[in-house]
Amino acid sequence: MKYDFHCHSDFSDGKLSPLDLVNYALERNIELLALTDHDTISGLKAAQQYITDNHLPIHLLNGIEISALAEYGEIHIVGLGLDRENTHLINRLSQQQEERWTRAKAIDAKLIKCGVEGVYQSLQDNVKQVVTRTHIANSLVQLGFAKDMQQAFKRYIGKQGRVKVSKNWIPMDEAIQLIKQAGGTAVLAHPTRYPLSNRKLSYLIESFACEGGDAIELSYPSLNKDKMEWLELHREKNRLLASSGSDFHYPNLRWTDLGRFPPIDIKIPHVLEKLNTPVNNLN
Ligand code: AMP
Ligand code: MN
Ligand code: MN
Ligand code: MN
Repeated sequence: MKYDFHCHSDFSDGKLSPLDLVNYALERNIELLALTDHDTISGLKAAQQYITDNHLPIHLLNGIEISALAEYGEIHIVGLGLDRENTHLINRLSQQQEERWTRAKAIDAKLIKCGVEGVYQSLQDNVKQVVTRTHIANSLVQLGFAKDMQQAFKRYIGKQGRVKVSKNWIPMDEAIQLIKQAGGTAVLAHPTRYPLSNRKLSYLIESFACEGGDAIELSYPSLNKDKMEWLELHREKNRLLASSGSDFHYPNLRWTDLGRFPPIDIKIPHVLEKLNTPVNNLN
């Protein structure tokens, strides 16, 4: 069965609306799709409504990607199979969305000091709900302060950029609990993308499991075979499941597309088999 457990819509920093994303998934013969926007579940309702109303041959899994703080810095935690009516989750996400606007304001203030004017106004005009650094990079390009996204990150808001603002994200243990109390499965997203040594990453995976995390992503674009094997060893040691997803944001990228990620050995226990999805219920 073709699936994808990690992708974004324009409710966060993806470019397609949830409806266009569903259509795009159908064109790629995807049968099970988790929409996992940054810090919001607001896009799920419209996507589900569209699928139901039109009897489309695709199942939607309610998902999210929460920005969280672990001991060694920021991590991303994907939640799969959530109750999208869960009040506690909705309320806590609203706080994080507020925090994101506070951060955007602080970044804007520093940018103004660097001679960059107009970013906050551009965000207010363009952002649908959740503001991310992708939006800020876009504004920097549109306003002529960077020639492309990569330059915007490099010069201003990336790891080596000149504008630094502290992150007050939800702590890792709380993010895991938030997902689980909403009936979801907590997945450590793209573990090798954090700037951590192997020793620290191995500690992160261990503490994620000890806090009740269920799975780690073991397959995503740009992950090479050696890294996947390293992750598999740590997945097994910590009795976690595997998950996979493209982290799709928009079409026409050379290195990734919806539904595209390296294959995983079928013997590896995967969230696909454990989740209470309509697909599994049919079996
Ligand atoms: P935020 O969660 O607001 O810090 O924004 C992070 C998002 O920015 C990620 O989800 C990526 O989609 C995007 N991003 C981070 N670094 C880069 C980069 N160097 N180039 C392009 N996009 C990036
Ligand atoms: Mn993103
Ligand atoms: Mn991420
Ligand atoms: Mn993502």
